[in-house]
Amino acid sequence: MCSKNQVFKPTFVYLTLFFILLSFSPSEVVAQGFFKKIFKGKNKTESIDKKEITPIVTLPKDTFTLENGEEVCQQEDAISQIPEKYKRIDFNKTEQCENLVELQPGQFCDATYLDGFDYYKTWDNWNVNPYNISSNALKDSIALQLYTEGDSTGWAYPLSKKERVTSKYGFRRWRFHHGIDTHLSIGDSIHAMFDGVIRIAKYNRRGYGYYVMIRHKNGLETLYGHMSRYIVKAGQEVKAGEVIGLGGNTGRSTGPHLHFEIRYQGYGFNPQDLIDFENHSFDVPANFDLTAKSYELLIESKKSVYHRIRSGDSLWKISRRYGTSMTKICRLNGISKRTTLRVGRTIRVR
Ligand SMILES: [Zn+2]
Repeated sequence: MCSKNQVFKPTFVYLTLFFILLSFSPSEVVAQGFFKKIFKGKNKTESIDKKEITPIVTLPKDTFTLENGEEVCQQEDAISQIPEKYKRIDFNKTEQCENLVELQPGQFCDATYLDGFDYYKTWDNWNVNPYNISSNALKDSIALQLYTEGDSTGWAYPLSKKERVTSKYGFRRWRFHHGIDTHLSIGDSIHAMFDGVIRIAKYNRRGYGYYVMIRHKNGLETLYGHMSRYIVKAGQEVKAGEVIGLGGNTGRSTGPHLHFEIRYQGYGFNPQDLIDFENHSFDVPANFDLTAKSYELLIESKKSVYHRIRSGDSLWKISRRYGTSMTKICRLNGISKRTTLRVGRTIRVR
């Protein structure tokens, strides 16, 4: 028989314990600790970035001079031109700058200086794809002039010599590979592919390692990952062929290699459509049509359906469940039928 008292007693004891605990750890303190943990990673990277900042200009000022000698930011220019997200600094209220863009916190430059702005409305030195452009846009075709026809200095190979491609663009083991990997030796020079301005130069421990992203004047953006170091900083202008860093094995990398991406409005397409790392046998074309075909694989990856692996799952079971085949699941994930499925991992099924 179960009396009311037996039920009541443990409940009472637990309730008392709960309130005693609460009085020792006020909810505000708990909450602060919680949020601190969440934002810890972010703060760390920010403090790294702050060390690297060498301002081109210090505001407020009536006028300032860019590194290339150009004088910008007249007092009478309209502050209303500055996108909302860049209005972080008090410009003495009357100081007004037209088309002013923040390259890094506290580092500004006139947007007209960045020709790539015909293609992009924002400048951001944290995110690889900050543009929020719908993937429907991938269906549009665009004719890009990559450099002036006949100007051999308008483009350059990212690596000084021919290198084996070790991993291609597209579906790969567990995740989509937005670029290609090529073999290299640690310390090899890595060159900017076209003229442009460094948009990102930072370190990502679990991803690209030391990496650089360049916004080019032709509308493309290129990314160079896993370097041993970079020798440029965000906001710096570079010419095609200029050395931006040295080959390495940093971040999520299991051997010295260059991870190389070419993106347009945030979306990567196959770099091998433009560049021949293995043979150097064809030149980068001066005029390039970016079409829906360039994004076929990426569009397919956007339609994906994923399954979280549970204990007892097998490729066969999963393929039955989603009405697909084991071969197709293997292809989508870049795995073989013998690959061990790890519980908790996500697998793409469509
Ligand atoms: Zn890669």
